[in-house]
Amino acid sequence: MNSNPYSWIEESLETIHKAHWYRSVKTIQNRAGAMVELEGKSVINFASNDYLALAADERLINAAIEALLTYGTGSTGSRLLSGHREIHRELESKIASLKQTEDAMVFSSGYLANLGTMAALVGKRDLILGDQYNHSSLKNGAKLSGATVIDYLHCNTEDLNKKLSQYRLSYRRCLIVTDSVFSMDGDLCPLPEILDLAQEFNCMLLLDEAHATGVMGKTGAGCVEYFNCTGRELIQMGTLSKALGSLGGYVAASEKLIDFLRNRASSWIYTTALSPADTAAALAAIKIIENEPQRRQQLWKNTALLKKQLSGFNILPSLTPIICLGLDSPQQALELAKKLLEAGIFAPAIRPPTVPTSRLRFSVMATHQASHFQQLGDVLRG
Ligand SMILES: *Cc1c(COP(=O)(O)O)cnc(C)c1O
Repeated sequence: MNSNPYSWIEESLETIHKAHWYRSVKTIQNRAGAMVELEGKSVINFASNDYLALAADERLINAAIEALLTYGTGSTGSRLLSGHREIHRELESKIASLKQTEDAMVFSSGYLANLGTMAALVGKRDLILGDQYNHSSLKNGAKLSGATVIDYLHCNTEDLNKKLSQYRLSYRRCLIVTDSVFSMDGDLCPLPEILDLAQEFNCMLLLDEAHATGVMGKTGAGCVEYFNCTGRELIQMGTLSKALGSLGGYVAASEKLIDFLRNRASSWIYTTALSPADTAAALAAIKIIENEPQRRQQLWKNTALLKKQLSGFNILPSLTPIICLGLDSPQQALELAKKLLEAGIFAPAIRPPTVPTSRLRFSVMATHQASHFQQLGDVLRG
């Protein structure tokens, strides 16, 4: 035994490089926005989740500053210990009112919301049925819960129905989990049909609205609203870090379910409360979403402009501001991303293992200009 126990890491990194799967960070040097300074170069930003351009909105910044001055930087403890502030509760009420649910609770991130919720709701005697393309946090939440996990084919309710018929009766509880907007494709889950199946087979449904909140539905409440399913019994979760321009996650559901999670969700009980600044910024964001529907309207106008510029290319089916250009290999995706970057356009190559097939992913912001889409179209056609 003379080998170094860490030497495998170097070999693994080499394998990652060889497969063109290697990732590294890129530095943005100014405020978030449709144009950013990326490593010394001004670029059009198609890589952000800040759909409504709220992350650099003065009102969010000022709300965060005010919370900092009032409460300080850290929450100093878990919510159940010394971390709870009035603005946490105010934010939770605001989320519940946006989602039209009885109650809501905020977590330190969307990832933690999924881990904690899933592990609290199901266990060894239970079943989780998840869409095969679900977000990493749902997949890991499923593992953490200890339940039996079975994937169904992407957005395929026939397959879900088949698996429910086959397995449901062998388990105590069953939780169906799905993204509403699939973050790396931009398509939508067939929510009404999934809700019907959940009801038919006596299953709970956890719906991940991370990319839908603030974007989908008439008031920006998400896909539940978009599909006219408001008021139906399910568990909605999402993030404060995408269209809401802040940081944190939430679960919105019945009063009893939220009360249960406050007593059982480890990733909420044993972690420090959301910081005052993040909480205040998210609260300001929801107020803006309520009062300024024109931001969402502009986002959808811009989404149509992007689709127009990309027509004729291999665009994956999407009903959202996430538009993907399908490509044959990770190498091709990397080369095209590089070419765009040289022309001043920032759009990430998304590759396995994140997705099964390589692509360039464009996400639209309300503050993109028509000229930004024109420039992208010119470079792609050029
Ligand atoms: C981003 C995302 C999350 C995680 O949210 P964070 O607040 O960033 O941790 C969860 N689910 C989906 C579908 C996401 O896109």
